[in-house]
Amino acid sequence: MEKPVPRPNADSAPFWEGCAAHEFRFQRCNSCGKPQFYSRAVCAHCQATDLSWEVAAGEGTVHSVTTVHRGPSVAFKEDSPYQVALVDMDEGFRFMANVRGGEAEIGTPVRVIYEKRGDQTIPQVEIRG
Ligand SMILES: [Zn+2]
Repeated sequence: MEKPVPRPNADSAPFWEGCAAHEFRFQRCNSCGKPQFYSRAVCAHCQATDLSWEVAAGEGTVHSVTTVHRGPSVAFKEDSPYQVALVDMDEGFRFMANVRGGEAEIGTPVRVIYEKRGDQTIPQVEIRG
């Protein structure tokens, strides 16, 4: 069994194309100025449809983290146990990723790294030294 891969749609395709280029793209609303992640057709804060894409520096801090002992399918068995973190990115949005290269806790500084999975590139995080 293979691990699942993302299936980009019209709203998320620019994000996944950015990952392939090792760029972490997120949206910013041109009406209220707030960042948003994941990508959507409208601003989650003010419902405006005038959104721009920006590239994040790729650094953030762990907001919350958990350890997964049994993954969602047998494909994740060899990775287990592994950590999944909710990360506060420096640009002001949150995203969720697996933690690589160490054990994170709340407040741990992390950076985005990219892993190939099939023909897709998946953003994960590693602990910053
Ligand atoms: Zn807005």
